[in-house]
Amino acid sequence: MKTIGLLGGMSWESTALYYSQINELTKEKLGGLHSAKISMVSVDFQEIEELQHAGQWDATGEILSKFAKQIQNAGADFLLICTNTMHKVAPQIEVAIDIPLLHIADATANRIKADGIQNIGLLGTRFTMEQEFYAGRLKEKHGLRVILPSKEDREIVHRVIYEELVLGVVRDESRREYLRIMEALRAKGAEGVIEGCTEIVMLVQQAHTDIPLFDTTSIHAEAAVEMALN
Ligand code: GLU
Repeated sequence: MKTIGLLGGMSWESTALYYSQINELTKEKLGGLHSAKISMVSVDFQEIEELQHAGQWDATGEILSKFAKQIQNAGADFLLICTNTMHKVAPQIEVAIDIPLLHIADATANRIKADGIQNIGLLGTRFTMEQEFYAGRLKEKHGLRVILPSKEDREIVHRVIYEELVLGVVRDESRREYLRIMEALRAKGAEGVIEGCTEIVMLVQQAHTDIPLFDTTSIHAEAAVEMALN
Protein backbone atom coordinates (compact mmCIF):
# COMPACT_ATOMS: atom_id res chain seq x y z
CA MET A 1 0.00 0.00 0.00
CA LYS A 2 1.33 3.46 -0.91
CA THR A 3 1.26 6.36 1.55
CA ILE A 4 -1.21 9.10 0.60
CA GLY A 5 -0.05 12.69 1.14
CA LEU A 6 -2.77 15.14 2.16
CA LEU A 7 -2.29 18.90 2.13
CA GLY A 8 -5.34 19.88 4.14
CA GLY A 9 -6.99 22.50 6.29
CA MET A 10 -8.57 24.37 3.38
CA SER A 11 -10.88 24.06 5.09
CA TRP A 12 -10.51 21.47 7.84
CA GLU A 13 -14.25 20.81 7.46
CA SER A 14 -13.62 19.17 4.10
CA THR A 15 -10.28 17.66 5.08
CA ALA A 16 -12.17 15.72 7.76
CA LEU A 17 -14.32 14.27 4.93
CA TYR A 18 -11.21 13.28 2.97
CA TYR A 19 -9.70 11.60 6.03
CA SER A 20 -12.79 9.55 6.86
CA GLN A 21 -13.68 8.67 3.26
CA ILE A 22 -10.14 7.51 2.43
CA ASN A 23 -10.11 5.28 5.50
CA GLU A 24 -13.66 3.97 4.90
CA LEU A 25 -12.79 3.04 1.30
CA THR A 26 -9.55 1.37 2.32
CA LYS A 27 -11.41 -0.68 4.94
CA GLU A 28 -14.07 -1.59 2.36
CA LYS A 29 -11.47 -2.75 -0.17
CA LEU A 30 -9.02 -4.55 2.12
CA GLY A 31 -11.25 -5.65 4.99
CA GLY A 32 -9.99 -6.62 8.43
CA LEU A 33 -8.42 -3.82 10.40
CA HIS A 34 -6.91 -2.17 7.35
CA SER A 35 -6.75 1.61 7.21
CA ALA A 36 -5.01 4.06 4.91
CA LYS A 37 -1.38 5.11 5.26
CA ILE A 38 -1.55 8.89 5.31
CA SER A 39 0.93 11.66 5.81
CA MET A 40 -0.88 14.94 6.33
CA VAL A 41 -0.19 18.61 7.02
CA SER A 42 -3.11 20.87 7.89
CA VAL A 43 -2.67 24.63 7.43
CA ASP A 44 -4.17 27.63 9.24
CA PHE A 45 -6.82 28.58 6.67
CA GLN A 46 -7.11 32.22 7.84
CA GLU A 47 -3.58 32.91 6.55
CA ILE A 48 -4.32 31.35 3.18
CA GLU A 49 -7.73 33.00 2.79
CA GLU A 50 -6.33 36.49 3.45
CA LEU A 51 -3.63 36.02 0.81
CA GLN A 52 -6.18 34.62 -1.70
CA HIS A 53 -8.46 37.61 -1.38
CA ALA A 54 -5.46 40.00 -1.57
CA GLY A 55 -4.45 38.29 -4.84
CA GLN A 56 -1.10 37.21 -3.36
CA TRP A 57 -1.09 33.78 -4.94
CA ASP A 58 2.71 33.46 -5.09
CA ALA A 59 2.83 33.76 -1.31
CA THR A 60 0.22 31.01 -0.93
CA GLY A 61 2.27 28.90 -3.31
CA GLU A 62 5.38 29.37 -1.17
CA ILE A 63 3.57 28.36 2.01
CA LEU A 64 1.93 25.33 0.42
CA SER A 65 5.17 24.23 -1.27
CA LYS A 66 6.92 24.24 2.10
CA PHE A 67 4.18 22.04 3.60
CA ALA A 68 4.14 19.77 0.54
CA LYS A 69 7.84 19.10 1.10
CA GLN A 70 7.14 18.20 4.73
CA ILE A 71 4.50 15.72 3.55
CA GLN A 72 6.98 14.20 1.10
CA ASN A 73 9.65 13.99 3.81
CA ALA A 74 7.14 12.21 6.06
CA GLY A 75 6.98 9.40 3.51
CA ALA A 76 4.11 10.22 1.14
CA ASP A 77 4.29 8.50 -2.26
CA PHE A 78 2.01 11.05 -3.93
CA LEU A 79 0.20 14.27 -3.00
CA LEU A 80 -3.37 15.52 -2.89
CA ILE A 81 -4.11 19.21 -2.40
CA CYS A 82 -7.45 18.95 -0.57
CA THR A 83 -9.09 21.98 -2.20
CA ASN A 84 -10.02 22.90 -5.76
CA THR A 85 -9.10 26.57 -5.41
CA MET A 86 -5.52 26.05 -4.31
CA HIS A 87 -4.82 24.04 -7.46
CA LYS A 88 -4.25 27.54 -8.82
CA VAL A 89 -0.71 27.14 -7.40
CA ALA A 90 -0.39 23.44 -8.26
CA PRO A 91 2.37 24.12 -10.84
CA GLN A 92 4.42 25.96 -8.18
CA ILE A 93 3.94 23.09 -5.70
CA GLU A 94 4.76 20.43 -8.30
CA VAL A 95 8.20 21.87 -9.00
CA ALA A 96 8.97 21.92 -5.25
CA ILE A 97 8.42 18.17 -4.75
CA ASP A 98 9.60 14.93 -6.34
CA ILE A 99 6.41 12.90 -5.81
CA PRO A 100 3.46 13.05 -8.25
CA LEU A 101 0.44 15.29 -7.67
CA LEU A 102 -3.02 13.75 -8.08
CA HIS A 103 -4.82 16.75 -9.64
CA ILE A 104 -8.44 17.17 -8.50
CA ALA A 105 -9.63 18.50 -11.88
CA ASP A 106 -8.16 15.49 -13.73
CA ALA A 107 -9.79 12.98 -11.36
CA THR A 108 -13.11 14.82 -11.75
CA ALA A 109 -12.88 15.14 -15.54
CA ASN A 110 -12.11 11.42 -15.86
CA ARG A 111 -15.29 10.59 -13.94
CA ILE A 112 -17.38 13.00 -16.03
CA LYS A 113 -16.08 11.53 -19.30
CA ALA A 114 -16.63 7.98 -18.03
CA ASP A 115 -20.29 8.96 -17.47
CA GLY A 116 -20.52 10.13 -21.10
CA ILE A 117 -21.08 13.78 -20.19
CA GLN A 118 -19.63 16.61 -22.25
CA ASN A 119 -21.48 19.75 -21.11
CA ILE A 120 -20.77 20.35 -17.46
CA GLY A 121 -21.78 23.07 -15.00
CA LEU A 122 -19.19 24.30 -12.52
CA LEU A 123 -19.77 25.64 -9.00
CA GLY A 124 -16.89 26.67 -6.75
CA THR A 125 -15.16 29.73 -5.40
CA ARG A 126 -15.03 32.77 -7.67
CA PHE A 127 -11.35 31.88 -8.27
CA THR A 128 -12.19 28.37 -9.42
CA MET A 129 -15.14 29.45 -11.58
CA GLU A 130 -13.54 32.50 -13.20
CA GLN A 131 -9.86 31.69 -13.59
CA GLU A 132 -8.28 29.54 -16.26
CA PHE A 133 -6.36 27.12 -14.00
CA TYR A 134 -9.48 25.00 -13.47
CA ALA A 135 -12.07 25.54 -16.21
CA GLY A 136 -9.22 25.90 -18.72
CA ARG A 137 -7.83 22.51 -17.75
CA LEU A 138 -11.28 20.89 -18.09
CA LYS A 139 -11.63 22.40 -21.56
CA GLU A 140 -8.14 22.06 -23.01
CA LYS A 141 -6.90 18.85 -21.42
CA HIS A 142 -10.23 17.00 -21.27
CA GLY A 143 -12.36 18.53 -24.05
CA LEU A 144 -15.31 19.37 -21.78
CA ARG A 145 -17.64 22.33 -22.31
CA VAL A 146 -17.82 24.24 -19.03
CA ILE A 147 -20.98 26.18 -18.16
CA LEU A 148 -20.84 28.84 -15.42
CA PRO A 149 -23.55 30.60 -13.38
CA SER A 150 -24.29 34.29 -14.02
CA LYS A 151 -22.01 36.83 -12.33
CA GLU A 152 -24.65 37.49 -9.67
CA ASP A 153 -25.05 33.80 -8.92
CA ARG A 154 -21.27 33.29 -8.83
CA GLU A 155 -21.15 35.90 -6.06
CA ILE A 156 -23.77 33.96 -4.07
CA VAL A 157 -21.91 30.66 -4.49
CA HIS A 158 -18.61 32.27 -3.43
CA ARG A 159 -20.14 34.03 -0.40
CA VAL A 160 -21.82 30.89 0.91
CA ILE A 161 -18.48 29.02 0.72
CA TYR A 162 -16.43 31.59 2.65
CA GLU A 163 -19.09 32.84 5.09
CA GLU A 164 -20.81 29.53 5.84
CA LEU A 165 -19.42 26.23 4.56
CA VAL A 166 -15.75 26.60 5.57
CA LEU A 167 -17.08 27.38 9.06
CA GLY A 168 -19.23 24.26 9.05
CA VAL A 169 -22.47 26.26 8.74
CA VAL A 170 -25.12 24.52 6.58
CA ARG A 171 -28.29 26.55 5.94
CA ASP A 172 -31.50 25.43 4.18
CA GLU A 173 -31.79 28.85 2.57
CA SER A 174 -28.34 28.50 0.99
CA ARG A 175 -29.20 25.00 -0.23
CA ARG A 176 -32.29 26.41 -1.95
CA GLU A 177 -30.12 29.03 -3.64
CA TYR A 178 -27.60 26.42 -4.81
CA LEU A 179 -30.38 24.20 -6.16
CA ARG A 180 -31.86 27.17 -8.02
CA ILE A 181 -28.44 27.95 -9.50
CA MET A 182 -27.96 24.29 -10.51
CA GLU A 183 -31.34 24.38 -12.30
CA ALA A 184 -30.21 27.53 -14.13
CA LEU A 185 -27.08 25.67 -15.26
CA ARG A 186 -29.25 22.81 -16.54
CA ALA A 187 -31.36 25.34 -18.46
CA LYS A 188 -28.12 26.55 -20.11
CA GLY A 189 -27.36 22.99 -21.27
CA ALA A 190 -25.46 21.42 -18.38
CA GLU A 191 -25.89 17.64 -18.21
CA GLY A 192 -24.33 17.55 -14.75
CA VAL A 193 -22.75 19.88 -12.19
CA ILE A 194 -19.27 19.78 -10.63
CA GLU A 195 -19.31 20.54 -6.92
CA GLY A 196 -15.95 22.19 -7.51
CA CYS A 197 -15.33 23.20 -3.94
CA THR A 198 -14.63 20.53 -1.39
CA GLU A 199 -17.22 21.84 1.10
CA ILE A 200 -20.23 22.01 -1.27
CA VAL A 201 -21.13 18.37 -0.61
CA MET A 202 -21.90 19.37 2.97
CA LEU A 203 -24.74 21.51 1.58
CA VAL A 204 -26.03 19.69 -1.51
CA GLN A 205 -26.01 15.93 -1.94
CA GLN A 206 -27.30 13.81 -4.81
CA ALA A 207 -30.50 13.10 -2.84
CA HIS A 208 -31.45 16.80 -3.19
CA THR A 209 -31.59 16.86 -7.00
CA ASP A 210 -31.85 14.66 -10.09
CA ILE A 211 -29.07 16.61 -11.85
CA PRO A 212 -25.98 14.35 -11.82
CA LEU A 213 -23.55 15.81 -9.28
CA PHE A 214 -19.77 15.40 -9.32
CA ASP A 215 -18.62 15.76 -5.73
CA THR A 216 -14.91 16.59 -6.03
CA THR A 217 -14.16 15.57 -2.43
CA SER A 218 -15.27 11.97 -2.82
CA ILE A 219 -14.00 11.69 -6.40
CA HIS A 220 -10.55 12.87 -5.26
CA ALA A 221 -10.60 10.59 -2.19
CA GLU A 222 -11.61 7.58 -4.32
CA ALA A 223 -8.86 8.31 -6.87
CA ALA A 224 -6.35 8.48 -4.01
CA VAL A 225 -7.34 5.07 -2.65
CA GLU A 226 -7.18 3.57 -6.12
CA MET A 227 -3.69 5.01 -6.62
CA ALA A 228 -2.57 3.83 -3.18
CA LEU A 229 -3.74 0.26 -3.71
CA ASN A 230 -2.67 -0.24 -7.34
N1 GLU B 1 -12.27 24.02 -0.21
C1 GLU B 1 -12.60 24.98 -1.19
C2 GLU B 1 -12.26 24.53 -2.58
O1 GLU B 1 -12.31 23.36 -2.85
C3 GLU B 1 -12.44 26.42 -0.90
C4 GLU B 1 -11.47 26.81 0.16
C5 GLU B 1 -10.21 27.30 -0.47
O2 GLU B 1 -10.19 28.47 -0.84
O3 GLU B 1 -9.28 26.53 -0.60
O4 GLU B 1 -12.01 25.32 -3.46
